[in-house]
Amino acid sequence: LPAPFGPAWRRYTPFLAEILAERRRLRRALRQAIPMQELALVYQPKVDLETARLVGAEALLRWHSAELGPMRPDIFIPLAEETGDIHAIGDWVLDAALRQLAQWQAEARLEDDFALAINVSSRQLMQAGFVAALLQRLEEHGVPAWRIKVEVTESGLIQDIRDAQERLAALRASGVGVSIDDFGTGYSSLSYLKSLPVSELKIDRSFVKDIAHNEEDRKLVETIIVIAHLFGCSVVAEGIEHEAERQILRGFGCEHGQGYLFARPLPPAEFAGWLTAPPAN
Ligand code: C2E
Ligand code: CA
Ligand code: CA
Ligand code: CA
Repeated sequence: LPAPFGPAWRRYTPFLAEILAERRRLRRALRQAIPMQELALVYQPKVDLETARLVGAEALLRWHSAELGPMRPDIFIPLAEETGDIHAIGDWVLDAALRQLAQWQAEARLEDDFALAINVSSRQLMQAGFVAALLQRLEEHGVPAWRIKVEVTESGLIQDIRDAQERLAALRASGVGVSIDDFGTGYSSLSYLKSLPVSELKIDRSFVKDIAHNEEDRKLVETIIVIAHLFGCSVVAEGIEHEAERQILRGFGCEHGQGYLFARPLPPAEFAGWLTAPPAN
């Protein structure tokens, strides 16, 4: 028999069946995650690279499955995008993030320029009525639009660039910040700058991690920063782990950064330590 149907194929079929069964298990567990209250948000501080002052945070999703244990978002988010569960999960994230933001606001813990970045899947962004629903949520929670930034990855936006453009423009017009996540890892990063109304670029960790040792990465990052500024965007570098990286990025004029050098993503109680003290009364 030719290769795909030969003995090797028969040998691997059980593994394939196992993989499929595993996926079904994962899907089933994921569908239970919200009703079982297994989702949580952690918050990674975002700092000014010049002064180390806190300028915001990124909300990152965590899933601790009773059945499967802790699951990584890079595994379950793509699956949720495939199955459509991302809509319910994305709604949950928005609600949880805004509720937390409203609480910090009520406790008077936020600096005037503090903004919370929320990851929004392109499937969620392109859902009918997304912008109106988000604006209504903001109002319900009493959170001003400028207090949040929506982080979208370039990869999902190409399918209907016109529609994406309109939605992001509507967000910007209402005061919500728009950040392009993982900038540079997609196919057409530069053309997005031209066509999308973006306020911030996030340089992916893959460009940042070797910046202290690799001349090419340094050139790439410097170029991204120059271009971002020419297009009126501010720049955040993600995944900063070492002081040398911070210094290089700062030297290139990168405004903000996130990474283990400053803090890991933190549960709300720990993150509160990064916020200004509530007023004494
Ligand atoms: P991302 O948006 O690019 O988030 C950055 C990832 O880098 C996070 O991984 C963060 O924990 C990690 N990170 C931050 N600083 C460092 C560092 O100094 N070193 C290293 N090695 N890693 C660092 P995480 O939390 O596992 O999230 C992975 C991805 O899952 C995110 O990548 C994002 O694409 C997705 N994701 C997370 N939360 C959400 C969410 O609420 N909604 C959606 N749609 N996607 C989410
Ligand atoms: Ca992000
Ligand atoms: Ca990112
Ligand atoms: Ca990334």
